[in-house]
Amino acid sequence: MSAVSVQSHFPLQALNTFGMDVFADAYAAIHSPADLMTLRADPTWAAQPVLVLGAGSNLLLTGNVGGLVLHMRTTGKEVVGEDHSSIYVRAAAGEDWHTFVLWTLEAGYAGLENLSLIPGTVGAAPVQNIGAYGVELQERFHALRALDWTTGEIKTFDHSSCRFSYRDSFFRRARGRFIIMDVVFALPKRWQNNLSYPDVEQAWRAQGAPPLTPLLVSRIIADIRRRKLPDPAVAGNAGSFFKNPSVSRARFEALRADYPDMPGYIQADGYYRLAAGWLIEQCGWKGKTVGDVGVWETQALVLVNRGKACGQDIARVSLMIQEAVNEKFGVWLEPEPVFV
Ligand SMILES: Cc1cc2nc3c(=O)[nH]c(=O)nc-3n(C[C@H](O)[C@H](O)[C@H](O)COP(=O)(O)OP(=O)(O)OC[C@H]3O[C@@H](n4cnc5c(N)ncnc54)[C@H](O)[C@@H]3O)c2cc1C
Repeated sequence: MSAVSVQSHFPLQALNTFGMDVFADAYAAIHSPADLMTLRADPTWAAQPVLVLGAGSNLLLTGNVGGLVLHMRTTGKEVVGEDHSSIYVRAAAGEDWHTFVLWTLEAGYAGLENLSLIPGTVGAAPVQNIGAYGVELQERFHALRALDWTTGEIKTFDHSSCRFSYRDSFFRRARGRFIIMDVVFALPKRWQNNLSYPDVEQAWRAQGAPPLTPLLVSRIIADIRRRKLPDPAVAGNAGSFFKNPSVSRARFEALRADYPDMPGYIQADGYYRLAAGWLIEQCGWKGKTVGDVGVWETQALVLVNRGKACGQDIARVSLMIQEAVNEKFGVWLEPEPVFV
C-alpha cells in the first residue's frame, strides 16, 4: 500500500533552479509508480490539473502553482536487454540525469557522453529532447512509459509516437497530461565519438590528444560546461533561455548580406539554424542587467536571477530581448523553458 501524502501551500523555491519563491497549492513527492496510481485513483486529485516537476531546471514559475504538483523522485536503473547493435537500459523518471549518464559510462556503455552534466531528471529529458554538443536525446531513445492523467491508463510510447524535434516533443505540447514514469535508451555497441563542436576538439587537443574514450569525452564536456555556464546555486538560471531560431535559405542569405559574420548552420530540412546567443549579443544585451535580471557575461543565451527577481521580472526582460532581436534582425526568439 502506498503512503503518499499531499501537502498544501508547499514552498517551491528550493525545487526550481531560477530560485523563484512561489508555492504549490498541493504537492506530492512521488517515490514509486504506486504513489502515482494511488493519487490517480482518488477522485479529488484525479480531477486536478497537474504540473509534473523534475529538478525544476527548465521551468519559469511566474506565480503560485494551482492544482497538484507531482514531484518525480522515483529511482532505479538497469540493463533490460541487448541485440546485435544496442544495449537497452531503463531508468526511472526521478533519476538524476548526469548520475545516470555516469552510471552508463562506468558500466562500459557509450552513447550519452555528449549529454553529460545537463541538469535535471531522466523523465524530463524526452520532454524537450535535450541536446548538447552535437547529440540529441532522440538519437539514443528507445521507448518510454507514461501515465495518462486524463484516463488513468499507462501507455508505452515508441520513438515515432514521441514526435521529437529540436528541443521539442509530443509531451511538451501535451503538457500536464502524460506523466513519464520510465525511459528506455538504446546505447550503441559500436562507439563513434562525436567531437563535432570545435570547443570539444580544442579542449581534447589542449590535453595532448590522448586516446579517446567515452568517459574522457564526458569529462571534457563537463569541464567546458562548468566553465561556461553559471551554477544555479550561485546565480539562479535555467540554462539557455532561448531556442536557436531556424530560417529559410533565402532569409539566411538576405541576413548574411547585411551581417557577413552571422553564424548559421544548414539543417537536414534545408533551413538554417541561427545562433540566438549571437543575435542577442549583437543587440547589446550580453552582460546587461535590468533590476535583478541579468544576461550572463560569457553566454548571452542565459538569463540569471541576480537576487530577488520574480518570474514576471524574468518574463519582462525576455520580452525586451525578443523585441530587440526582432527589431534588428526580423527574427522572433522562442523561449526554451516552460512558463508556468
Ligand atoms: C545550467 C543549465 C544548463 C542546461 N543545459 C541544457 C543543455 O545543454 N541542453 C538542454 O537540452 N537543456 C539544458 N538545460 C535545461 C534542462 O536541464 C533540461 O530541460 C532538463 O531536461 C530539465 O529537467 P528537469 O527534471 O529539471 O525538468 P523540469 O524543469 O522539472 O520540467 C521541465 C518540463 O518537463 C516536464 N516534466 C518533468 N518531468 C516530467 C515527467 N516525468 N513526465 C512528464 N513531464 C515531465 C515539466 O512538467 C516541465 O514542463 C539546462 C538547464 C540549466 C539550469
